[in-house]
Amino acid sequence: MTVIAVFNQKGGVGKTTTALNLLAGLAQRKQRPLAIDLDPQAHLSGIFGVRPRLADDSVYSFFVRQRPLADITEIAASGVMVCPGHLDLSKLDTMLGKGVNVVTRLRTALRVPGVAPGPVVIDCCPLLGVLSLNAIFACDLVVIPVSADYLALQGAQQVERALNALETVFKARLPRRYLLTRFDARRKMSSEVADLMAMAFRPEEICVTRIAENVSLAESPARQLDVFRYAPTSTGARDYRALVDELVTAGLA
Ligand code: ADP
Ligand code: MG
Repeated sequence: MTVIAVFNQKGGVGKTTTALNLLAGLAQRKQRPLAIDLDPQAHLSGIFGVRPRLADDSVYSFFVRQRPLADITEIAASGVMVCPGHLDLSKLDTMLGKGVNVVTRLRTALRVPGVAPGPVVIDCCPLLGVLSLNAIFACDLVVIPVSADYLALQGAQQVERALNALETVFKARLPRRYLLTRFDARRKMSSEVADLMAMAFRPEEICVTRIAENVSLAESPARQLDVFRYAPTSTGARDYRALVDELVTAGLA
């Protein structure tokens, strides 16, 4: 079982799009992926058609009253298992704090045999709070989408600093991959951000795959579909297939 956290401290960079299509791509490889939605906006859950009315039926109750993940897991039409998010997740920082036993709660739960038979993909919110820390402590790999703009790059650099600061806790470098998204070769800013990324991060930690700006990727969530089901021959489907191949080949997924 591999646990992948999709995180950037900036919003709107393609975290949810990446989580959705990684899950779908892994499901196509006959794996049985589990999605965990740690964003109070719960967009990923909504795309999977799983949107609990009560916080108690979401991952909120796992954090607040230790409800087993299996109790709140639903199976989406695509076969992906989903631990849905809920707006009340935004209360957790004040409710729980950031003690060691709190930030390792997800890690402990996912290590119980049978909880996650296949790969796990966690969609994070853009804040480094108790939820994202749970994702970081639970994961084997952090994927950091960087939409091809300067603020997304700044957010990714904040993530790099945060992960490096946590290295003393992990006593190892936490595996990470920076993923350039919304790349548009006609735009000067896109290639500038790509060049800046190459200077900001270790070359081996930057994905070879780039996700191009593609309308099918933006349209598919409105149909509650991943890009492979919505537009299988689109460049969006091609790019996310290449990403899954790259991560699987590197033994990261
Ligand atoms: P985040 O989860 O980081 O906030 P999203 O995945 O929700 O970001 O993406 C933000 C917006 O950008 C969404 O409307 C999404 O459909 C769109 N989007 C993401 N990636 C692409 C892409 N490669 N091409 C076109 N639109 C994209
Ligand atoms: Mg999102």
